[in-house]
Amino acid sequence: MYLNITQKKIIKYSHGPCLVLAGAGSGKTRVVISKIIYLINVCKVKSENIVAITFTNKSAQEMQLQLIKHFKNCNNKIKVNISTFHSFGLRIIKSELFHLNLKANFSLLNQEDKLFLLKTFTKSVFKKNNDLLLKLSSKISYWKNKLIDPLNAKLKSITNLDKTFAMYYDLYQFHLNNFNKLDLDDLIFIPTLLLKNNASARLRWQKKVDYLLVDEYQDTNVIQYNLIKMLNPKNFTLVGDDDQSIYSWRGAEPKNLLFLKIDYPHLKIFKLEQNYRSSGRILKASNKLIANNLHIYKKSLITQLKYGSKIKILQNINEEYEAKNIAKEIVSHYKKFNTQFSDYAVLYRSNQQSKILESIFIKNHIPYNINNRTQFLKFFEIKILMNYLKFILNPNDNFYFLKVINVPGRKIGISTIKKLKSWAIKNNISLYKTCYNDNLEKILSKNKVKSLKKFIKWIKESIVLSDVQPMQIISHIIKNINYKNWLKESSKDLVEFKKNVKNISIFVNLINELLIGNSQHPQMTLSEIVSYLTLYEDVNVNRRSHLKGVFLMTLHASKGLEFPFVFIAGLEEGILPHYSSISQNNIEEERRLMYVGMTRAKKELTLTFANKRSNYGLTTLSKYSRFLLELPQEDLVWINQKNNFNSNILLNNSINRIKFLKKMLKLSK
Ligand code: ATP
Ligand code: MG
Repeated sequence: MYLNITQKKIIKYSHGPCLVLAGAGSGKTRVVISKIIYLINVCKVKSENIVAITFTNKSAQEMQLQLIKHFKNCNNKIKVNISTFHSFGLRIIKSELFHLNLKANFSLLNQEDKLFLLKTFTKSVFKKNNDLLLKLSSKISYWKNKLIDPLNAKLKSITNLDKTFAMYYDLYQFHLNNFNKLDLDDLIFIPTLLLKNNASARLRWQKKVDYLLVDEYQDTNVIQYNLIKMLNPKNFTLVGDDDQSIYSWRGAEPKNLLFLKIDYPHLKIFKLEQNYRSSGRILKASNKLIANNLHIYKKSLITQLKYGSKIKILQNINEEYEAKNIAKEIVSHYKKFNTQFSDYAVLYRSNQQSKILESIFIKNHIPYNINNRTQFLKFFEIKILMNYLKFILNPNDNFYFLKVINVPGRKIGISTIKKLKSWAIKNNISLYKTCYNDNLEKILSKNKVKSLKKFIKWIKESIVLSDVQPMQIISHIIKNINYKNWLKESSKDLVEFKKNVKNISIFVNLINELLIGNSQHPQMTLSEIVSYLTLYEDVNVNRRSHLKGVFLMTLHASKGLEFPFVFIAGLEEGILPHYSSISQNNIEEERRLMYVGMTRAKKELTLTFANKRSNYGLTTLSKYSRFLLELPQEDLVWINQKNNFNSNILLNNSINRIKFLKKMLKLSK
C-alpha cells in the first residue's frame, strides 16, 4: 500500500498516544490498516493483543477483509479482531461472565424488545402514550450512557417525571438481571462498569490489549471514551474527522475530541491534508459547505486529482419524478461511459426515502443493492422465528415464553397465562419451569395441561437439538409448528404467502451460512448468531442482493465508503436538514451529514430535490435545502427536470436564485 510521508510517520509512531485528525478521503482508514500490519510485522506485537475498533459492521468487515488478504500467505496464524464498540463489549462480557454474575446463554434485547418490555411495565400508568414510552426508553439509554445505575438515577432525579422514569428503570433492570438478559446499551455499560470497579478485571484486559486503534473516532461518546481509557492508557492511535461527527443523539460530539488533549498532555496530533478520493470540484464544494460550521481544530484539504465536472442539481416535480430522474440519469450515464451499476450510489437522509427508489429501480430493471437487514428482521415471519430461537436458547426467559406460546395458536388463553404467571411468581420460578409442575391440574383444565406439557416437551427436544445439531433447528421449528400452513392461513393472499416463504428460506440459509462460517464471517454458535443478528443493523441479508447493482443507503450508513458517482436525494428543508434538527437548532450536525455524503463521491456528484413530497399520505410543498445555497454556485449546474418549479423558490432573494430563475424562465418559454 502506498503511503505518503505523514502517513508513514503516523505508522511508525508506535509508543504513546496518538490522534490523527484529518478530513474525508485523506487516507485515515488506510493508516489504521497499515499500522496494524506494521505493529505485527515490525513491532512484533501479537495479533491477538491488538484491538481495532470502528463504528459500523460494514467497515469492520471491509477492514478485516483487507487484513485477511494481506496476511493470506503468512505461515503464522494471524487474526486481528476488528470490532465495533458493541461487539468488543460483547467479547468482554462473554469472557467475564463469572464476575458479572451472568449465565452464558443470556439473551440480548433489541430496541423493539426493550420497548415491548417497558410497555408491559408501564401499561397501567402510561396507558397508550407512546411518546412517554419512547422518552422512558431513551432516558434509560441516557442513564446507561452516563454510567448511572438505577439507584443513582433515583437519587439524581428531581422532577416527578424523572422519578417515575427512574422507578421503571429499576424495575426494568431488575427484570433483565433476573432473566439473564442484556439490552444493547449494556454491551458498553456493563464492561465499562466492570473495568471501573474491578481492578483485577481491568488489569486482565490491560494485559490483553497491547495496542488499541479506533477508526471514526469522532463518533465516540463519553462512555466509550471511558472504556478506551481504562483499556490501555498508554499506546493507541485514534483517527477521526470532527467534520464527520454525526451521532450527537448518542452523545458523540466534536468537542469530545478536546478531552483527549486534557487527559493525555503528551498526545501527538497528526494531520493529513491530501485528499486521494474526490475531484477538485467536489472537494472545493464540500470544504465550502463545512466552512459554515464552527471548528475546534483547523484543517485544510487539497487534492491533486482533476477538477472534474460540475455538480448537478436536479429539481423534480415530486418524489416519484425524483426517483425516475435519478434512474434515468444512471442508465444514460451507464450506457454512455460503459460503467458498472456498482459504480453508483444513491444516498438519502432517511430509510423511508428508499421505497420509491426501489420501486422505480425494479420497474426499470436496474439492479440495486440495499441493506435491508433491519427491515428484514422486522418482517413478522422472521421475528417469530427469532423469538423461538431466543426462547430455546434461554427458556427461563418469560418474555420469550410469552412471545411464542401462542404463535401459532395453542389455545392457551389469557386466563391460563394469568394463572401460570401467578403460580410462577408465588414459587419464584420461570413460566417454563412452572409448566413442568405436576400439580398444574389443580389450577388448569386437563386439556390445557396437556397442550402445555406437549409444548414444553417439544421445547426440551429443541434445546437438545440446538446443541447437537444446530443446522437442523430452524427447519425443525418450521416443521413442528406447522409454520407454513399457519402463514398460508394468515396471509392476505398468495403473493404475500410466497414472499413470506421466500424470506423464511433466506433466513434459514443465513443461519446455516453463519453456523458454517465463510470468508466474511467466522464460524459461530447459535447463541453467537442470535446476539450477532440482534446487534448488527447492517449485515448483508438482502432480499434483492445484487452486489453488481447501484448502492442505495442512508447517509449515516455511507460513512467511510466511496463510489465514483454519487447521488444525494431529498435535498429539501425538513429532510436534509431534517425537521428534528431544525427544531433543535442542530443544523451543524446536518451539515456534517451532508459533508459525509458529498465526500463519498470520487468523480461526479448529483444532488436532487422534489418540489412536492407525500408524507404519510399528505402531499406538501417543499422548499429546497439551505445547503444548496452554501455551495460554490459557479461549480453547480441547476437542471429543472420538468420545467416546473415551485413558487417557494421566488421567496428567496439570493442573486444565484434569481439567476437560476431567469434561466428556468428562459427554458420554459
Ligand atoms: P473517510 O474520512 O471518508 O473515512 P479516510 O480518511 O479514511 O476517508 P481512506 O478511505 O483511507 O480515507 O482513503 C481514501 C481513498 O484514498 C482510498 O481509495 C484509499 O485507497 C486512497 N488512499 C489513501 N492513502 C493513499 C495514498 N497515500 N496514496 C494513494 N491513495 C491513497
Ligand atoms: Mg475512513
